[in-house]
Amino acid sequence: METTKIIQEIKELRQRIREHNYSYYVLDAPKISDAEYDRMLQRLLHLERENPELITPDSPTQRVGGAVAAGFSRVAHARPLLSLANVFSIGELVAFHDRARKLLETENLEYVVELKIDGLAISLVYEDGQLVRGVTRGDGFFGEDVTSNVRTIRSIPLTLAGQGGSSPRLLDVRGEVYMPRPEFERLNRERAQRGEPAFANPRNAAAGSLRQLDPAMTAQRALDIFVYGIGEPQAGMATHMDSLDYLQSLGFKVNPHRRLFHTIQDVVDYCSLWEEKRRELPYDIDGLVIKVNDLRSQQELGSTAKDPRWAAAYKFPAEQAITVLEDIFTGVGRTGVLTPTAILQPVRLAGSTVSRATLHNEDFIAEKDIRIGDTVIIHKAGEIIPEVIAVIPARRTGRERPFVMPEHCPACGGPVVRREGEAAHKCVNPDCPALLREKLIHFASREAMNIEGLGPAIVTNLLEAGLVNDAADFYRLRMEDLVKIERMGEKSATKLLAAVEASKQAGLDKVLFALGIRYVGAKAAGNLAKQLRTMEAVSQADMETLTGIDEIGEKIAESVMAYFAEPENLALIDGLRNSGVVMEAAELPLAAEATLSGKTFVLTGGMETMTRQEATAAIERAGGRVTSSVSKNTDYVVAGSDPGSKLTKANSLGVQVLNEDQFLELMGLK
Ligand code: NAD
Repeated sequence: METTKIIQEIKELRQRIREHNYSYYVLDAPKISDAEYDRMLQRLLHLERENPELITPDSPTQRVGGAVAAGFSRVAHARPLLSLANVFSIGELVAFHDRARKLLETENLEYVVELKIDGLAISLVYEDGQLVRGVTRGDGFFGEDVTSNVRTIRSIPLTLAGQGGSSPRLLDVRGEVYMPRPEFERLNRERAQRGEPAFANPRNAAAGSLRQLDPAMTAQRALDIFVYGIGEPQAGMATHMDSLDYLQSLGFKVNPHRRLFHTIQDVVDYCSLWEEKRRELPYDIDGLVIKVNDLRSQQELGSTAKDPRWAAAYKFPAEQAITVLEDIFTGVGRTGVLTPTAILQPVRLAGSTVSRATLHNEDFIAEKDIRIGDTVIIHKAGEIIPEVIAVIPARRTGRERPFVMPEHCPACGGPVVRREGEAAHKCVNPDCPALLREKLIHFASREAMNIEGLGPAIVTNLLEAGLVNDAADFYRLRMEDLVKIERMGEKSATKLLAAVEASKQAGLDKVLFALGIRYVGAKAAGNLAKQLRTMEAVSQADMETLTGIDEIGEKIAESVMAYFAEPENLALIDGLRNSGVVMEAAELPLAAEATLSGKTFVLTGGMETMTRQEATAAIERAGGRVTSSVSKNTDYVVAGSDPGSKLTKANSLGVQVLNEDQFLELMGLK
């Protein structure tokens, strides 16, 4: 690229980043997603790295992003409050380790890994054991005096529990003030009722709440804190872990998930573990912080003006994005429920492109005041379908249109009703073609009968060709019928027929789930099959028998009984049975059942003969349990092709490792 173009791009990026810093840090109201912001900052960092002569001291890459807002007094920090250098991948994390190793000229580095709490940094200054000041990070050198607000946070000690009655003369404690997720949801609900804009995330809500000019406002919000460091190391302290333990002994809340590791591999494993596990926490984390444990090494590594060289923030892939909601489409599910779905301008989110998000029902749309044409924040967690979490009213142009739930079923034109006390609108026509279509799609789906090649498009074609009227008709399909339908050649028809045939052996648990009995999910279906063993027994079970089964409550039991009271459903089951669909639970090889009860397994890498889901099901059927991380309590690690770090961990802990063959043998499947 030409130098003038580079200079121009750098200038524009700096200007835009400064504006977004202001919205984010001063107004607590970001206008773009963090991922978008991070991309801009990364681009600027890249350009500056390539052209170091263009770096200026006022570039946003060289300084901490915040500022002191009007209305607060400006206080100098005794020691700067820095930000953290981000790493976005395992590769970058290892590069951070290599750099530290090289600078310190050592092979043996210990790291403390802590959760990266998604809130805002605070410095708490104690004199002779008394809290005298609470100051926000601001620009790193000067922050805002929020002492009165900080005092309203109950988990911040006002007086220190000094060891042996003595308190340090001066103590500067650093921590993260955050808003627990339930409080965040409560606050946003309240704001919606008052017609106020929602906070984009708990971090902005925490910042907005702590940076109130009126402490009474802060006191109304249940803020909390975890502390993670000391401005000035105390005498006699050798490691970061020591300082965390010391802080805890003084009465501070220190996060319990801190861990000490001796190898970078273990650090990497711990980071991967939390990528999933974070959903179990009642507060948000946006990554993990990795810190060199030895304080002398920390000093040797030092800091840049923006962040310390002895620490790094490992960031999880973004789970939120901002996009435009272009339309709302109403679909009909297999129980007749009308579900509005947002059609979005495609956007990258947590590693995939998203163009739809669920809107649940009419109340959800009304509560969030979602209109067609709005700019919205969407969120995706794990495998779950993305959800619209909030609208950004500042981006409204006036051309947005409110959504109205259709009065007639979009599939059959029949009447739509909303029963009292229920949130859902339903099509009440039992013959609605959409209901049948959804039921059939569910029946063939992966988690149910797992008929490969029988996805939504083929099901629609089969319906349109009049080849199926219920699920039993799948088993009556013939080659000559199939080749007539659109885009179905002889080859795919042969494959499909083989998949249909194979599904007959799926087992009672899958059939029960596939029937789509209300409230009977995969788990309940599995428990019913495990206990009652045959379809006959399930269909005749009474209330007492059903509620005696693990995790089957009255609601599920009633629904099961109602299902088997319908002649139409019994006819479907007969049809399936007559076609050869197995209606019994698979018998377990006795050896496996006896040996595997209570054993824990961890799966890593791919297997040739079964999917991970199938392996998990087989282990659970045999009484075992599958967990996601290896510990010394793991009984077996099953390592397929390309196993991950879990295998290394298993070997280092001496956990028994099985290859695919050995696993199949243990399960009695070979
Ligand atoms: P950061 O929040 O990513 O990381 C540094 C901070 O982590 C520290 O200041 C500290 O407060 C916190 N932290 C939490 N747990 C910690 C622990 N255990 N140990 C040490 N520190 C811990 O950095 P930042 O510079 O404050 O902000 C950058 C973030 O803000 C990015 O995620 C960026 O996307 C976002 N941002 C977004 C916009 C926007 O417009 N959307 C604008 C500016 C910044």
